[in-house]
Order: sequence, then C-alpha cells, then structure tokens
Amino acid sequence: MLLDELKVQERLRLDPPTDYILGVCREHGENCTLVFKSIMQADAVADCLRRKIIHFATEATVIGASILTANPSEYTTKLFAISGSCKHEMVENQEHLIRDASEALIKSQKKFNRCLYYIASDGDSRHRRALISIVLQHDLDACQKIYTILQPLNLFDLKCGHNGLTADFDWTHILKHPRNTVLRLTGFYVSGTYITAAVIKSHLMSTGMSSLTVDTLLAPNDKQDVVLMLRLLYAIASLTPAAPSDPPLVQSSRHSLCLLGQFYWHLLNAYLDISLSLHQQLMHLSAAAHLMLTLYNLDKGGFIPVQTYFDTMRMIKNAYFCIAKVQCDNPEGFFYLILLGTDGLEKVFDHCIEDFIST
Ligand SMILES: [Zn+2]
Repeated sequence: MLLDELKVQERLRLDPPTDYILGVCREHGENCTLVFKSIMQADAVADCLRRKIIHFATEATVIGASILTANPSEYTTKLFAISGSCKHEMVENQEHLIRDASEALIKSQKKFNRCLYYIASDGDSRHRRALISIVLQHDLDACQKIYTILQPLNLFDLKCGHNGLTADFDWTHILKHPRNTVLRLTGFYVSGTYITAAVIKSHLMSTGMSSLTVDTLLAPNDKQDVVLMLRLLYAIASLTPAAPSDPPLVQSSRHSLCLLGQFYWHLLNAYLDISLSLHQQLMHLSAAAHLMLTLYNLDKGGFIPVQTYFDTMRMIKNAYFCIAKVQCDNPEGFFYLILLGTDGLEKVFDHCIEDFIST
C-alpha cells in the first residue's frame, strides 16, 4: 500500500453520484453538513468556510496499491482512496486513516489470495510518525513462517506490525538525502572528520575533475536534478585512498570521504546496477546498513539527520522482510527490488496530469 501527498486546488466541487460537497478538509469537515440537498447547504458550507469552522483542503492524501509481480500489466498502481486535508491533523487521525485504508485493502484482496506486505511513504513526517505505531508494535512472532529466515540475521531488527507488516520509504527519495547532506552549508561529520563542500571540491579536483564540473555538481541550479545527484555520489564513491606523501589532513579527510563513498556505492548499486542478482542486491543493502549504523553511531546528527537514518534503515529492513515473505508464499516466484517504494503512485500522478493536459 502506497501513500503520498498531493497539492490540490482550493475549491469546492459537487460529487453527483453521492450528492456530497467535496473539497473540504477531513480534519474539520464533520462540523458542517456536506450533503447537498438545496442551495441552503451550499450557503451553510460557504458560511462555515468564512468563519473558519471548516477549511478548504490544501493537500490530498492519496492511497494506492500495487502487486509485487513480474507482470508489468499487474504491478501498475491502482488508487483507492483520496482524502483532502488542511494539514492541521493530529498524528492519531493520520494513523486512523492509514489503519482504515489498510484494513479495507486487506479485506478486499483476501478473495484473490493476496496479503498486505508493507505500507510505503515518500518520507512525509506525519506518515512517518503514524507508521511508527502501526509497524513497530512488537517483535516478529516466532510462529510466522518468515521468522526462521529472518531471526538468524545478526543485528536485524525484527519489530513489525500485525502479520509481519512493515513500513517502506521510497528509495528514489532516500537516494536524494545523501546529496542534501553533502550540500549542507554547515558541513557534516564522517568518522569524526569535519567535511565541507570546499573539502569535497578539493578532493574531487585532485582526481582531475575541472573546477566548473565540481561547482555544477555541488551547487546544481535544480536540486531535483537526479542525473547531477547520481554523478556527485558516484564521483565521491570513486575516490581512491590518499597517497602516503599527502599531508596528514588530506589523508584523514580522504579516508572519511572513502568511507562515505563506500556507503553511497552500496546504496546506489543495490538499486541501479541492473546486472545484479537479488542476492547481490541484498549484500549491498546489508553493507550499506552496517556502514550507516557505524557512521551514525560515531557522529549521530552531525553525520545525517535522524529521520534519514530511520527511513533508510526501514527501507532496507522492508526489502529483507518482503523477500522472506515471497520465499515463503511463492517459492517459485520472482522479486524485483525496484518495485518497492512509492514510484508507482508518482507514475499514476504523471498519467493523470498527461490526461488532464491532453483533454
Ligand atoms: Zn481544517
């Protein structure tokens, strides 16, 4: 089950099949009658909006589902819930919404012999807080079939929700976090060494990269430019250890950058090297998790924000849980790591926008 937030136009609409007035926030909508029977109800809604008893929805929580399958016609994400919000919602209400949606999804898919493996978000803070109470309830039950697969893994976190339910955070969003850390104006710490953009620039230039290229990678005009992001992370991942003749300061910062580069290299390869087997992808994810645990333990928030640490660890853990579930539920089946995350929902948004433009 995939969650995302979408900006919506602030206006009311009438839904003819139900005669409901839509476009009002879910947090306060119950304070006003929204069933349209005559112009009286429309006037009452307008009055409540003016008095700020209810609000226009400024954002919609969009919930969809996709199937982990090798068949492209089946893994397309299907939307099944859209709910407007004025962004004044308490975490408990967000949790109720996610629980209701997941229970409805589980019930509707039972007849197809499908079950809910995970709930994915792009890293929205309210989603994160709501998901914590849903998927970090208790240790995995020893009577679950996947227990014998996951329990022997050293340091592996077995906390999950009902029936082994886990949370996922979108890997394409996770990959953007390291670049944002590198671009932090205040710098960051790796294994106790203070690293700034200027330090990274001098190391990249020492490999033969031009000043202009490094400046473009470190200060992109478009922070969403994925190609530049990947080039920067791969450039750091490609740094080799300093020469013995280099000054001690250069040697220590190069050592830290190489450690950081190894972390990026494992994370990037797990998702972007299409020649790898699933076993190799898991080895990269495991290496990334161990490196991140070590580096975070040394410098905590000075290395990466705690939210990034949390989301990345949940993402890696979810991959292991999902693969164990597929091994038990469909031993002859295929599993594709890149199907995880919320990318399916974003593709649906793209199609909606394309349809809108073409009409
Ligand atoms: Zn409201």
